[in-house]
Amino acid sequence: MKHDFIYEALPTRVVFGEGKLAALPDEIKRLNASRALVLCTPNQLEWARQVAAVLGPECVGIFSQAAMHTPVEVTELAMEQVRQLNADSVIGLGGGSTIGLGKAIALRTGLPQVAVPTTYAGSEMTPILGQTENGVKTTQRTPIVLPKTVIYDVALTLSLPASLSATSGLNAMAHAVEALYAQNANPVVSLMAEEGIGALAQSLPNIIGDPSDRNARAQAQYGAWLCGICLGSAGMALHHKLCHVLGGRFNLPHAETHAIMLPHTAAYNAPHAAQAMQRAARALNAESVGDGLWTLARRIKAPQALRAIGLPEAGIEQATELAMKNPYWNPRPLDKEGIRALIRRAWAGEAPRP
Ligand code: NAD
Repeated sequence: MKHDFIYEALPTRVVFGEGKLAALPDEIKRLNASRALVLCTPNQLEWARQVAAVLGPECVGIFSQAAMHTPVEVTELAMEQVRQLNADSVIGLGGGSTIGLGKAIALRTGLPQVAVPTTYAGSEMTPILGQTENGVKTTQRTPIVLPKTVIYDVALTLSLPASLSATSGLNAMAHAVEALYAQNANPVVSLMAEEGIGALAQSLPNIIGDPSDRNARAQAQYGAWLCGICLGSAGMALHHKLCHVLGGRFNLPHAETHAIMLPHTAAYNAPHAAQAMQRAARALNAESVGDGLWTLARRIKAPQALRAIGLPEAGIEQATELAMKNPYWNPRPLDKEGIRALIRRAWAGEAPRP
């Protein structure tokens, strides 16, 4: 273990437990706010109406057009509503797409946000915002976008379909795997990472068996919270970079792309991050991190081939070129042949190789 590190805790208040959505009015008051705008995707409008009812006069409206990758046009529409309604806070109810919109509004206004996550993506615990303009996604890290309060209520995850639970859970694990070997890894975040991977590895198969299993759901949400802290605290490397390239250039779905790539990127890095990846393997109860993740993904019926989610074969070369373009830190130096072979295996749905 490295006894040379910097540890900085992020100042988010976390309210965790079944039924905790009922605490929302108090949490809004705690922020000295009284005119909240609720954000959601079109799919979750009915839920947003229920949240508005819980809030009563403290809710001034609902904006229900949140979309994947935080398109700037959508944020501008939401900003009009913020101004017209004179909102003094935002509530992001949903997955990373909705929480991303809350962050984009916070960036422009400084308004406090309460995040109420309903997937395992982890955005609620990070000071990171990705925005898309003219088809180009750019990411920034700034404390102003960090939600002030996060309410984790397991009841809101029970409807998450089994397929999205599997891919979103692997998306969460990716944050923890990369935090373990991060350049700025530290012992506290590594503890959270190992615990988060273990909680998700145990709970996801049970959720796939029975999506209404509340104990498994609570364990997965706990794991996702820890993995979200990992993403917010540690620098990410090859895995997140490749997913960013694949998602941005080929418009591949976010959680599925992470789910497919993770066994391959972890296996690629494992020989150069032996101790860190032993911890991940231990949490997965597996011999090696690549095998453990691959077996888990298969067991929970996550997609395992990029070609099955829309990457054309020609995309392998393009993604390789893009991934090699801007150098960034990774525990294993990036060699073009190795990266091409990794993407090809992920494209074909083959097992990972170091
Ligand atoms: P998402 O927010 O796009 O949700 C996917 C779909 O599932 C949506 O239609 C949503 O309404 C629906 N849904 C969500 N919860 C549900 C539930 N409990 N029951 C039924 N349906 C539900 O998906 P996501 O994977 O959570 O988020 C992906 C986005 O988040 C991407 O844009 C990604 O870049 C971003 N993200 C950002 C960060 C960060 O730190 N900035 C971290 C992770 C993800």
